[in-house]
Formats: sequence, C-alpha cells, structure tokens
Amino acid sequence: MKYLLLILILALIVWFLVRQRKSRGDRSGAETRERIAENVVVCAHCRLRVPESESIEHEGRHYCCDEHRRLGPL
Ligand SMILES: [Zn+2]
Repeated sequence: MKYLLLILILALIVWFLVRQRKSRGDRSGAETRERIAENVVVCAHCRLRVPESESIEHEGRHYCCDEHRRLGPL
C-alpha cells in the first residue's frame, strides 16, 4: 500500500511536469508565429532588426529607439 501511494505521487509529479512543458511550448510557438507574421525593419542608425510595430518611423526611415531617431542615419 505504501508503494502504491509513492507511485501515485510520482505519476502526479510527472503529469504536472509534462503539462507545464507542453503549455510553455505552445506559448513560445505562438510567439514565433507572431514574429514571423510581423514585418521586421532595420534601424537606419545601428542596423538592428526590430518589428515594425516597435520601431520609430521618421522621414521614411525606421529606428529602433528614440535616441537613434534623434541621431539620424549613419
Ligand atoms: Zn538603432
């Protein structure tokens, strides 16, 4: 009877770990799909690739941050 309880607890732990890993995998997969779908632009100052929604557009050019927009293209 003692072993049965131990096996039950072990099975619960394994089930919990598998479930946790599976949900984490789904989330990262959705994130990857989102990133692929989104248009990526290159910062005119430092050439860093940033998603268009996170970039700052100025005079037809894209920048990764406000400071690089201020500094202008290199
Ligand atoms: Zn930049």
